Amino acid sequence: MTDPIDRSGLRPRYWETTPLNRMTQKEWEALCDGCGKCCMNKLEDEETGEVAFTRVACRLFDDTTCLCAQYPIRHQFVPECITLKPHTIDSHAYWLPDTCAYKLLHQGKRLYDWHPLISGDPQTVHRAGVSMQHRTLPEFEVPEDDWEDHIIEEPI
Ligand code: SF4
Ligand code: SF4
Repeated sequence: MTDPIDRSGLRPRYWETTPLNRMTQKEWEALCDGCGKCCMNKLEDEETGEVAFTRVACRLFDDTTCLCAQYPIRHQFVPECITLKPHTIDSHAYWLPDTCAYKLLHQGKRLYDWHPLISGDPQTVHRAGVSMQHRTLPEFEVPEDDWEDHIIEEPI
């Protein structure tokens, strides 16, 4: 299958030698592994700050492709959708999933072998069982009061 993210012509292993804030826009975008976990609705404990992921997906999430169905114009429909940037990763890392490439590199960790940048195949994130493909519920089917019944464990 064609990679939905353009990872052509990138410098070999650039993520191991280039800090997040020195990457080109293309290199930054290519870090996303396509797991879809950041598109799940989350529950945050107001007292502890602890974040729990649910399998209740954002209204624009496509459970088959595991991608946003309207990525370029998503803010028209979901204004609160976060755009990760090198200078904002620090404030968002607490709620990102532990397998997220941005969080891993921010924490000085390595990418997993199933990451498309390493495997060369965008499907390996799904085959490794770390993506949300075919595992979500649409948010219009689950009232917010019931989200806690659909919490998923991290790392998954
Ligand atoms: S959690 Fe991270 S790696 Fe996964 S889809 Fe979101 S930004 Fe990409
Ligand atoms: S708008 Fe798109 S990118 Fe943003 S959370 Fe929803 S599905 Fe994900």
